Amino acid sequence: MQQLKGIAVSPGVVIGDALVMDNEGFRIPRRFVARDAVEDELKRLDAAIQAASQETERNRDSVARQLGEQYAGIFSAHLQILRDAHLHRELEEMIRERHFSPEHAVSRALRRYAKVFQSLDNHYLAERANDIFDIEKRLLRLLLGRRREELSQLTSAVLILAHDLTPSETANLDRNFVLGFVTEVGGPGSHTAIVAEALEIPAVVGTGPFLTDVSGGEQVIIDGDEGFVILEPDEATIEKYTRQIEQQRSLAVQLQSLNDLPAETADGARIRLLGNIEFPHEVALCQQRGSDGIGLYRTEFLYIGADRAPTEQDQFEAYAEVVRAMQGRTVVIRTLDLGADKMQAATPHIDVERNPVLGMRSLRLSLRNVPMFRTQLRAILRAAALGDVRIMFPMVSTLMELRQAKMVLADVMEDLSEHDIAFNPELPVGMMVEVPAAVVMMDQFVHEVDFCSIGTNDLIQYTLAVDRSNKDVANLYTPSDPSVIRLIAMAIDTARKHSLPINLCGQMSGSTTYTMLLAGLGLRSFSVTPAAIPEIKRVCRAVTIPQCEEVARRALTMVNARDIKSYLKEQLHKVVPELVV
Ligand code: PEP
Ligand code: MG
Repeated sequence: MQQLKGIAVSPGVVIGDALVMDNEGFRIPRRFVARDAVEDELKRLDAAIQAASQETERNRDSVARQLGEQYAGIFSAHLQILRDAHLHRELEEMIRERHFSPEHAVSRALRRYAKVFQSLDNHYLAERANDIFDIEKRLLRLLLGRRREELSQLTSAVLILAHDLTPSETANLDRNFVLGFVTEVGGPGSHTAIVAEALEIPAVVGTGPFLTDVSGGEQVIIDGDEGFVILEPDEATIEKYTRQIEQQRSLAVQLQSLNDLPAETADGARIRLLGNIEFPHEVALCQQRGSDGIGLYRTEFLYIGADRAPTEQDQFEAYAEVVRAMQGRTVVIRTLDLGADKMQAATPHIDVERNPVLGMRSLRLSLRNVPMFRTQLRAILRAAALGDVRIMFPMVSTLMELRQAKMVLADVMEDLSEHDIAFNPELPVGMMVEVPAAVVMMDQFVHEVDFCSIGTNDLIQYTLAVDRSNKDVANLYTPSDPSVIRLIAMAIDTARKHSLPINLCGQMSGSTTYTMLLAGLGLRSFSVTPAAIPEIKRVCRAVTIPQCEEVARRALTMVNARDIKSYLKEQLHKVVPELVV
């Protein structure tokens, strides 16, 4: 048994068989072979080693010819490994005695070698581990050939272990078969994490390197609540987690009884509880759990898997589906927030940026590409004729930028009027408050918009100068930081002073740890990931506003993120102990 610690990004515990993905999406489908197939499997391995050696020789000769002998040395080293008698004996023993498939044997043996290199205290030798991965990849390609299977063709339930998954790879996971996933890299606020939550797939990211220890087929536990990953767990651990899964199931059933009740505090304050969605199908989850509307519809996810930009009609249809399904309840549609780790592939015209999160992202990108922006605005305005739609601009940093966006919107409205196309001319216009500059300038922004929504995912990143998708700085990325809490308090105060409706739609609002704090700071509208609706409702119904105000007052006196978080957890435990693990 081996236990890893990563970052918990999508809650839930799952137990199942590992499917290992490498960077090229290889999976190792079979672990064992039938006893009578051993001789054939050994022949298959032999053929693959021969073919790999020939390919490597050809590469060596061609590089030597073109660049000189000294550059071909790397291939000679690969050849030496491929021809190593000790390796051959080891592989044969695994297949003959333990009935491993050649793929599994190759992966297991070579990853073990690589691990030895990686652990050496010599940078040059540690780097040689990459050569071993190269050989593994070559052999697997030859062995798997056409049998290489895609993630989209899964036929049995698995837990995916990968170096990394992009947001679009994550969005394409088949929820019927992927029970959970773990990635070596990735951070707490990444869009991969957000998509995992939207799909309600338990996930842990940022564990650091461990794929060299697994080959696929092993039993694994993913604890998406605490961020643990356990490889080949022992009986006692399986039992412990099985109990936890059962407890979670019964808590979920208990919480279902709140579905038809409002998020109202024990002393009668009504909290608006909205859902964040990426995909139209999530509307059903929001409806089922009794949300008051959609507080954030992230439209950039329409670009997922699309080989061309969505047309006005594509966009209109997606928005209309959501608006109709919400039956008159509010739907806040956010304009495109492309760029950074979101759908980079959708913005190929942007040069590679050194600091994409500080670059041509989001509203800046829409204002740079006005035809694309206008297409989206037309689709939103048309969908607004069908229900209570509001539009929200993301990542607003300056007043000028906001005014520019509003001008384009006014122009598009004029155009639609001229052509007698139905739309809502009274469409409320809002902005995300997710750049510290927007908080500082809130007293000005309040005169320019009909509502605003705090985006803590980015606000944390930009306040603390910490990349939301980088595991190495994840310890700094927390909503508990006093600077973040003060900025949120400032934004809420200013908005309330000017009677501007304010919501919070970052992941923070879906964490029960912060519900009392946010309500105590005066927030009365939360937009959360659909899975979090029942728990947040539970907390709201268990507390009073004076109680929350006291929690907020105390938290604001603290100067250390860790103290604030443990204080908030303690307070939560007092009111709803069953929600604190
Ligand atoms: C945020 O930044 O908090 C937010 C809700 O937007 P996104 O996560 O899509 O950047
Ligand atoms: Mg954001």
